Amino acid sequence: MLVSKLELFHFRMRQNEHKKLLTEHGLKVTHQRLAVLEALMELSNHPTAEMIIGYVKIKYPKIAVATVYNILDILCKDGIVRKIKTDQDFVRYDAEPKSHHHLYCSTCEVIENYYDEELDAILRNYFKHKSIPDWEIKEITLQIAGQYNKC
Ligand SMILES: [Zn+2]
Repeated sequence: MLVSKLELFHFRMRQNEHKKLLTEHGLKVTHQRLAVLEALMELSNHPTAEMIIGYVKIKYPKIAVATVYNILDILCKDGIVRKIKTDQDFVRYDAEPKSHHHLYCSTCEVIENYYDEELDAILRNYFKHKSIPDWEIKEITLQIAGQYNKC
């Protein structure tokens, strides 16, 4: 595969960020973990485990499916990656660290990130004044279901 110098440069930059991320979370840096993070980054639109496995297998054809699932579990447990469920009951993975919501199109199954600091502030404020009994809120993520006009 022919890659340009610029692509290689960006790849190294991302890989360094991923190494840092794993280290910060007290996780050992392995090639396989880096490959899974790379897959999550490259396959935008919240990939399924199958899509991630497909991507990782390009580089590591012999990797066991269970290994990829294991890595995803570890990353989820550590909060580096989040699981999202759709109406179709597929689990999709999300590695975007910045607070965001999701726009979910039930026709084409696209999940797009939706950033809205104003909305975040409203939600935070709302629950500051109206707490839920016996419940400590850690995070609020909205899944805004709908449809693209083109769908
Ligand atoms: Zn997302």
